[in-house]
Amino acid sequence: MVKLIRRHLSWKLFLSYLIVILVGILVLASAAEFAVPTAFDRHMSAMAQMMGGQMMGMGMDLYTNFRSAVTEALALAGIAASLAAVVVSLFVSRRVVLPVQEMMAASQRIADGHYDERVGVPGDAATDELDELSRLALSFNQMTDRLEQTEARRLELIGNVAHELRTPLSTIKGYMEGLIDGVLPAEATTFQQVYREADRLEHLVHDLQELSRVEAREYELNPMPAAPARLVEAVVDRLGRQFDEKGVALQTDVPRDLPSVRVDADRIGQVLLNLVGNALQYTPSGGRVFLHARPEGDWVRFSVQDTGVGISPQHLPHVFERFYRVDKSRSRAGGGSGIGLTIARHLVESHGGQIEAASDGPDRGSTFSFTVPVA
Ligand code: ADP
Repeated sequence: MVKLIRRHLSWKLFLSYLIVILVGILVLASAAEFAVPTAFDRHMSAMAQMMGGQMMGMGMDLYTNFRSAVTEALALAGIAASLAAVVVSLFVSRRVVLPVQEMMAASQRIADGHYDERVGVPGDAATDELDELSRLALSFNQMTDRLEQTEARRLELIGNVAHELRTPLSTIKGYMEGLIDGVLPAEATTFQQVYREADRLEHLVHDLQELSRVEAREYELNPMPAAPARLVEAVVDRLGRQFDEKGVALQTDVPRDLPSVRVDADRIGQVLLNLVGNALQYTPSGGRVFLHARPEGDWVRFSVQDTGVGISPQHLPHVFERFYRVDKSRSRAGGGSGIGLTIARHLVESHGGQIEAASDGPDRGSTFSFTVPVA
């Protein structure tokens, strides 16, 4: 019995009602034991005075009757209250215990890997009239949503990584087989091809490491006031020569009176480098890349505009997704893994800003822009 009570909320509820009833009856009975005789005596002596002593004999009888009537009434009240306790505890435990049991079973199924499990939310979430249990059910479901998304992303990531690794690995294997069979000549160009694929693999692994660090937010952000002009200069210094070599013009425009921004200069420098690097990669020689910064309320917007290959509307919403490449062969040939923009978006969002892509379509150039807060 004790075990039953320990393990079931409904029994605990019932027992608590029963204790309240018992204490009530006990207090009532002892109060009656004390109060009734004195009250009765007082009443009887008053009556006896009025009726001249004829009542004395009847007094005792009347008292015994009255006492047993009180005891009977108490017993009846006790039974009725206990029945009420049974009914009420059944009703309450239905409302309390059932949802808890449902959540218990659901969490067990989730632990077994069934992430699509949800529990019913009693009450109407829209009217905001939810008790603690309903809110618990609501946050339980939210937690399960997150778990399901995380699991889906994990599976997707494993699939993507396997896919990304397969191409360079099978190319390397192909070259090696050719070398072993004597089909390919053992000369510098062959070795260089193998080296290039190995290099690509190394790049990919590096990008993946960076992505997992950024997505898990395993990096420190040290936001400090920085002049937008300095951030832009740093990128021009790094990539200027590559622009010259490819024959793409790089123009910048950063107004002198632009306020400082509050950023981690290394991280935002990385974002700018990625956007300008992409613009260079996807703009044929003879083209132009325009990098500028403008104030926008409490923000400064950096934009990288190019006259390159552009992005068609159906691809545009996806370019920030992991491993998304519009033209897989072209991007891969350029060493692209489709991770750069995903990392850029994380970094901008960790500063509270937003990053966007726009394009009028294929061969009509693209514009990537992002905001960072004013210092
Ligand atoms: P990648 O390393 O492949 O360049 P990103 O994440 O940097 O990966 O970019 C994702 C995809 O977005 C690219 O593969 C490319 O198709 C497209 N893209 C990015 N920047 C530009 C741009 N300036 N012009 C045209 N397409 C672009």
